[in-house]
Amino acid sequence: MLVSTPIGNLGDLPPRAVEALRGAALICCEDTRRTGKLLAHTGISGVRMAIANDHTETARVAEVLEVLGGGGNVAVVTDAGTPGISDPGSRLVRAVLDAGHAVSAIPGPAALVMALVVSGFDTNRFVFEGFVPRTGRDRGQRMASIAAEVRTVIVYEAPHRIARTIDDLAATCGGERRVALARELTKLHEEVFRGTLAEAVAHLATTPPRGEYVLVIEGAPVPDPGEVTDAQLREGLLMALAGGADRRAAIATVMVAHRVPKRRVYDVALTIPR
Ligand code: SAM
Repeated sequence: MLVSTPIGNLGDLPPRAVEALRGAALICCEDTRRTGKLLAHTGISGVRMAIANDHTETARVAEVLEVLGGGGNVAVVTDAGTPGISDPGSRLVRAVLDAGHAVSAIPGPAALVMALVVSGFDTNRFVFEGFVPRTGRDRGQRMASIAAEVRTVIVYEAPHRIARTIDDLAATCGGERRVALARELTKLHEEVFRGTLAEAVAHLATTPPRGEYVLVIEGAPVPDPGEVTDAQLREGLLMALAGGADRRAAIATVMVAHRVPKRRVYDVALTIPR
């Protein structure tokens, strides 16, 4: 049973989560001290805990299957939010399903959903990117694909990397693209900055980032295929290449973004010197 826990405000612990934790024979968590505090808050004591973090989740499978095989319930929690969302959980789910056991979840807080719904951007179609790669070619390619994405994009980021990520997004998406920076959601200092990426760069220069942030980036405008010129396709290709994408990835990105046949983008790419 995957059990969601609060992302900052203990009042957000769902009653069914408390029941599931109380009834568990084993609670898998990232940090026993942190989860111990949550259990103490709910008055639960004496439940066996085991660490299932990024390094130990796979090693925990045998113990989990043993408990389930003996008819006990296993609860999986993380430090905050929904297990499996940029957190451990999915490897245990796969192993438990493969062993023929049932998996269910107690729904609850997830920072990405809350940030999306308060962003003011389109909530009908969106993409969750988790944490973007920190360096190198992978980072450039991810930035280029975010720039071309027509759906709302949600990104998690650590506070000490947020300014650089916003700078890079402004460089690849253009300073006019709108963004919402959702900070310290559900906590005392919750706030949402809404503006363009250029404004976000200026905002972060004067307000050093503190606490946890989710970035929500408005999708790129959907172009009318009839109106896209070769010059625009070329510009898109150059931007993707400058962001670190190789030619194939740049062509794919521009093709999806502008909804034009690959052959046409390929022909335009031939005009760009290698
Ligand atoms: N499993 C969690 C969830 O369901 O949202 C996410 C865990 S991930 C390791 C941590 C990241 O989630 C943070 O770096 C931040 O981007 C985002 N986050 C978590 N809590 C947050 C909060 N209260 N306010 C803003 N962002 C938060």
